[in-house]
Amino acid sequence: MAVTLETPLARVLGPKTATGMAEQLDLHTVRDLLRHYPRRYARRGEMARLDDLQKGDRVTILAQVKSVNTRRMRQRHGTITEVAVGDGAGTMKLVFFNNKHAKLAPGEWGLFAGTVGTYQGSLQFTHPDCHMLEDSDSDSDGDQDWARALVPIYPASKDVSSWVIQKSVKLLIGAGGGFGELVVDPLPEDIRARHGLLSLAAALLDIHRPTSMDDVEHAAHRLKWDEALVLQLTLAGRRKAAALEPGIARPRRPGGLLDAIDAALPFALTEGQREVGEELAAELDRDQPMHRLLQGEVGSGKTVVALRAMAQVVDAGGQAALLAPTEVLAAQHVRGIRQLLGPLGRAGELDGAADGTRVTLLTGSLKAAPKREARAEVAEGRAGIVVGTHALLQEGVEFADLGLVVVDEQHRFGVEQRDALRAKGSRPPHVLVMTATPIPRTVAMTVYGDLETSTLRQLPSGRGGVASSVVPMGEKPGWLDRAWQRVREEVAAGRQAYVVCPRIGDLTGPDDEPEDADGAPDGGDDRRPPLAVLDVAEMLRAGPLNGLRLDVLHGRLGPEEKEARMRAFAAGQIDVLVATTVVEVGVDVPNATVMVVMDADRFGVSQLHQLRGRVARGAHPGLCLLVTEAAAASSTGQRLAAVAATSDGFALARLDLETRREGDVLGAAQSGSRSGVRLLSLLEDEELISAARAEASALLDTERGLADHPGLAAEVARLATDERADYLEKA
Ligand code: ADP
Ligand code: MG
Repeated sequence: MAVTLETPLARVLGPKTATGMAEQLDLHTVRDLLRHYPRRYARRGEMARLDDLQKGDRVTILAQVKSVNTRRMRQRHGTITEVAVGDGAGTMKLVFFNNKHAKLAPGEWGLFAGTVGTYQGSLQFTHPDCHMLEDSDSDSDGDQDWARALVPIYPASKDVSSWVIQKSVKLLIGAGGGFGELVVDPLPEDIRARHGLLSLAAALLDIHRPTSMDDVEHAAHRLKWDEALVLQLTLAGRRKAAALEPGIARPRRPGGLLDAIDAALPFALTEGQREVGEELAAELDRDQPMHRLLQGEVGSGKTVVALRAMAQVVDAGGQAALLAPTEVLAAQHVRGIRQLLGPLGRAGELDGAADGTRVTLLTGSLKAAPKREARAEVAEGRAGIVVGTHALLQEGVEFADLGLVVVDEQHRFGVEQRDALRAKGSRPPHVLVMTATPIPRTVAMTVYGDLETSTLRQLPSGRGGVASSVVPMGEKPGWLDRAWQRVREEVAAGRQAYVVCPRIGDLTGPDDEPEDADGAPDGGDDRRPPLAVLDVAEMLRAGPLNGLRLDVLHGRLGPEEKEARMRAFAAGQIDVLVATTVVEVGVDVPNATVMVVMDADRFGVSQLHQLRGRVARGAHPGLCLLVTEAAAASSTGQRLAAVAATSDGFALARLDLETRREGDVLGAAQSGSRSGVRLLSLLEDEELISAARAEASALLDTERGLADHPGLAAEVARLATDERADYLEKA
């Protein structure tokens, strides 16, 4: 029987190996194995980097045996064999019991895999898996000069070691001339030619058995193209399908809510807000549903842009829903919108305008009766504007005529949640997604690649700006006192302050996790627990901020309590709000001018930028102090310094991307779906992704689409199946 990419591994490998690969590495078919690329390549005497290893790493190293020493154990029966191995850069001890591997001879080279441990201060492997290299391992084609050969090191598992994978791959590739036939290239010839790409068979050969790092680079480039193109075809397909959906046009109507809002706005729109506003207005007027991403710098005024779009839809007789990530934010939106609309937002109430609408809040924590009432308002269409949290997505929430869905601070919602809300319209509603922070172009093209993008680059004028500094507690202990003094000065001048801590405090255990650990790079576990709101508030009350009106805000408070405190802060009745990241996104109190972030190193870059955005909302200059114990020279210290040095959200978004792994970025935003991305880097492959995007659009714009490219069509279908499977697993 001929082997194809679809052939189950169990047919070509031994049952034990195949089972191990399936269960531990999720590799099931020949294709899976061929797409299981080496993590890195070892070169004798050069690449193993023994000096980089740390305790707990599970690694495979390539090293040479230096000495072998077997002796009888004193406390127990049996023998212990200590083998010293080295790679020129470092040495390490391997430990075996009872004469295992006692026959190793100095001078031999081998691959050793295990978990790095320490014993009396030096690194060691305790009975690692060993695979001694013979000359024939270097290259089956008889190249004896294997000192130069690269040894692929694969992501391995407990029972399937790197060299078992290597041998298995070799078996498939070793088919000689047959390999080219086994591997059918899905890429159209002309795309390959245009971008100078290797054939798939050549690329797979080179990635698994390279003779130089150049080979690896070329191979990876071609394989990345596969990933990028399939992803972009999927996204382009979604865009195209969406464009064919029948929506309902919601044309602009003069003399309605929108005009009322424009008249009531206490400021003039920025040029950017006007432009994007026009773009949205025109798109809402089409009977194809809009799918748009609105990104903009923190504080660039996205809310009012969204609100005006919502008003247009209500004026046209539809309903608009605004999905917010937190209850605090949902409540704030309702408050702001009601205030802007005045009587027009209180239809049906005594002082309401007859031609107005209602602004309804729907959150999970509403009591049964008000929730029933809110749902009824939504279902009967009395509520033109509905603001809520995840509760909006629940079954039982029905809209009379949902015309527009706005998702605020999108990074908290996955594609499925967006779709769940869209499904609540009788016909697909228009969708506007707003990101919390600017996102790098590659992320816009992938994670949000099924959306068109609008960008607000400009901040409203008359902003005071924010100055940021790092306060290194270890190196400059006096600076923290100075920070509290600055808070007192601002309060004395009539301003307000936030103090943000990573943890709530009081409780221990899982309930006391940070509320929104959002990509903060995790340090070791040996650090002290992060500072807590309740402790810091008490310390400040008793000490440096004694006499100020100080209160706390965190996720453990009931929603009414949270709302009351937020309201009091907004009304200026609280001077200093000590809070968790509940204030991170969207919270808007222009009179607040200082933010002190405690244990700033525990937060991610984007998160800090978001937090800082809270004190840049008015005419008064803002101040953001990042308090940390991290040394200025450490990578953490430098990350904080970078945040302090720039307020360019796009630059910081890039930095954020650098401190995370691709999978986290793609995974989190696509609710963990397998994106099919193994090699592609959102950081480095902007050009490639953009070229693939253009090719994908061009391909789908042709009349026959993928009809002449069954290989590509199959890859796209496979990705969709994987994604669905993944979603089902999660559901
Ligand atoms: P973000 O884009 O971060 O969501 P918001 O929409 O919350 O920003 O707006 C931030 C602040 O700027 C709000 O207080 C809002 O009222 C104000 N704002 C919005 N647009 C303008 C403008 N054109 N001129 C002055 N202030 C504005
Ligand atoms: Mg916002």
